[in-house]
This record gives sequence, C-alpha cells and structure tokens, in this order.
Amino acid sequence: MESRSNVEPPLERELAGLPELKAFQTSDDRAGALHVVAAANDNPYTWQYWFWTSVLLSSAVLVSQVLTFGLKAVGLPSPYPAIIGTVAAICSYMGVYRALHRWGARPVLRDLLAAQGITVCRTCGERLPDGATHCAQCGRRQGRT
Ligand SMILES: [Zn+2]
Repeated sequence: MESRSNVEPPLERELAGLPELKAFQTSDDRAGALHVVAAANDNPYTWQYWFWTSVLLSSAVLVSQVLTFGLKAVGLPSPYPAIIGTVAAICSYMGVYRALHRWGARPVLRDLLAAQGITVCRTCGERLPDGATHCAQCGRRQGRT
C-alpha cells in the first residue's frame, strides 16, 4: 500500500464539508474512505461510469449551446457568445461534476462508517449517538435498514 502522508486523498475538494466525512475517527480512515469512493467512481468498466460521464458532457454542451444561441439572438456581437458559452460549459461541467460526486459518495461513506460501527443519519449525515431513535440535527426517525 502506498504512503498517503503527503498526498491529498482523491476527491478531497469535491467532497469537502460532507458531515459523513467528519464522522470518521482518524484521518487515515477518512483518507481510506476517499480512496474507496474514488476507486468506485473511476472504474471505466461499469455502465454507470459511461452513463454519468455522458450526463456530465451533455449538460455542459447543452448549457453552452443554449447560452451561445441566446446571446446571438439578443444581438451580442461575435465572438462574445462563443466565449461566454465556452466559459459557461466549463463552469457547468465543474458544478455538475462536484454535485454528482457529492450525491454519489454519501451512501458509500455511510456504508463504510457502518462497517466501523459508526451510525450517521440517513438524511443529513450527522453522527448519531448509540441507540438514538431520532436525529438531533434534522429530526428524522432512525430505523433498522
Ligand atoms: Zn439527520
């Protein structure tokens, strides 16, 4: 196993601030979990990888095309519609990339926490004390899975 001491774990920036990540007891557990999430996301031998990659690219192209067309329609001179459309496509790609990773990582992180005996709320992700029947943060009733 490689040394992780000086290397930022994958997806550190994309998943920053998720309550599930804060629930890990050590930074090594946390880094290990980020590696598991990254390995699951970055496997091109699954249909999900290609499905989400095409969602990502299609949304960026769509944003760019709609914006470029709209700016041309309101009479903005060339090349500004194309430049603004391209910048918007990049921003859209980055935003959707981050949103998809955050959405997809949470159940994986909860399973990894559960395997370590740490229970978190299934709605908001805050850590629950042993035997809690309701989440103190969001109030959701906690049941067995
Ligand atoms: Zn909650």
